[in-house]
Amino acid sequence: MNNSGTTTPIQLSSKPTRPAGPSETGTRPNRTACIRTFGCQMNVHDSDRMRRMIRDAGYAEVQSYEDADLVVLNTCYVRENAVDRVRGHLGEINRLKREGRVKRVALTGCIGAASEAEQLERQYNIDLVLGTHNTYELASFVGLPTMEETYTPDLPGTEGDHSAFVTIMTGCNYQCSYCIVPTVRGRMICRPMDNIVSEVERLVESGTKYVTLLGQTVDAWRQDGKRFCDLLERVSEVAPRIWFTTSHPSNMEDRTLKAIGERETIVRRLHLPVQSGSDKMLKAMHRGYKADRYRRKIEVFREHVPDGTLSTDIIVGHPGETAEDHEQTLRLVEDCAFDSAYIFKFSPRKGTEAAELGGVVPDKVVQRRFLQVLRQVEQNAYAQNQRKVGSLEDIYIRHGSTDDGRSIGETWSGHAVHVGTNAKPGEYVEARIASAGPHVLYAEVPRS
Ligand code: SF4
Repeated sequence: MNNSGTTTPIQLSSKPTRPAGPSETGTRPNRTACIRTFGCQMNVHDSDRMRRMIRDAGYAEVQSYEDADLVVLNTCYVRENAVDRVRGHLGEINRLKREGRVKRVALTGCIGAASEAEQLERQYNIDLVLGTHNTYELASFVGLPTMEETYTPDLPGTEGDHSAFVTIMTGCNYQCSYCIVPTVRGRMICRPMDNIVSEVERLVESGTKYVTLLGQTVDAWRQDGKRFCDLLERVSEVAPRIWFTTSHPSNMEDRTLKAIGERETIVRRLHLPVQSGSDKMLKAMHRGYKADRYRRKIEVFREHVPDGTLSTDIIVGHPGETAEDHEQTLRLVEDCAFDSAYIFKFSPRKGTEAAELGGVVPDKVVQRRFLQVLRQVEQNAYAQNQRKVGSLEDIYIRHGSTDDGRSIGETWSGHAVHVGTNAKPGEYVEARIASAGPHVLYAEVPRS
């Protein structure tokens, strides 16, 4: 990958006629899309997921803007002139749009979440702007059913053999007001422990270094009197590195939180969706817990895993959410000091209870609340990440180095790190944290 992105540079010349597309018959496919990726391996991974959505929606992928009906720019904000660079691309795409070649444009990634996005949207007539937290909204934009999560297990990861996802349960026994999962996936079915452990053993034998246990409510897993913590402990004895997602606060046992702090092979990162800080909204959502119970879980986590990372999901603008409810969410965000959060603007999903509810919150209000929660999370995250500066960390490399020599890794405390190394995915490097932003740490390998 070069410094400006993962793809070949933009072709600024235009052709007088529209070229034939890549279909085998020599005729242009009905719909075409071009995805351009800038920046790090995380963006490459996100682009792969968007590519899958676009293909599922019936688009053929093309390599140049002028061949595309739909252009997706998945952007990076790290470099100083990143916005200017993207402006160059947007100017060309906008010209093609005015000529009627390109029909729709989506701006995604880090610049999509930045303050400049609004101005770019207006200036270049962009149809959809998404940040890194809501890439999944591309699905409905291209005509697919709305997806619930950015990291839905239906979309396979792209990490390769060094890491693997292992599904331990399907379906869900909850009935959250906004969620379609129980309708489409049915009630919870847990996979037997021996079956899971055998799969993990096979994976480890074949070279897998990192296993992630998956389920809609992974901590609700149970079998013959055994509970999730029993399974987690078993797997932690077999796999060299292990994580799990997604948990439900009502199922999260204190002994699981303790195990995260005690077991050496478990990554000290907890993803525990809270959704709201208001008891009234939690009740309307049918979440089954109150905000203070959630706070207590977090206290236990912080006590047993003092250097661990904590992430959550938050929905803003659920029907009936008042200014006071929103204030309570902001208070909870401050109390829990999340290291990161997936923040969702409520959007009604057909077939769910919330889609039929009154008390709809106006879009402008939702957007304002969304930005307030986002700002609060990022302030917390930035302050917490600063505390890691100077520490020496064992970093697991998840994505190999780019052309500028930086790899993406993860500390045992669950922090994402950019580190200058040639180590391969699945290997560890020892490096010192040199600086930190709200989303990622930057590390240097000490010279020997
Ligand atoms: S617990 Fe999660 S999967 Fe189950 S209904 Fe609620 S949001 Fe949906």
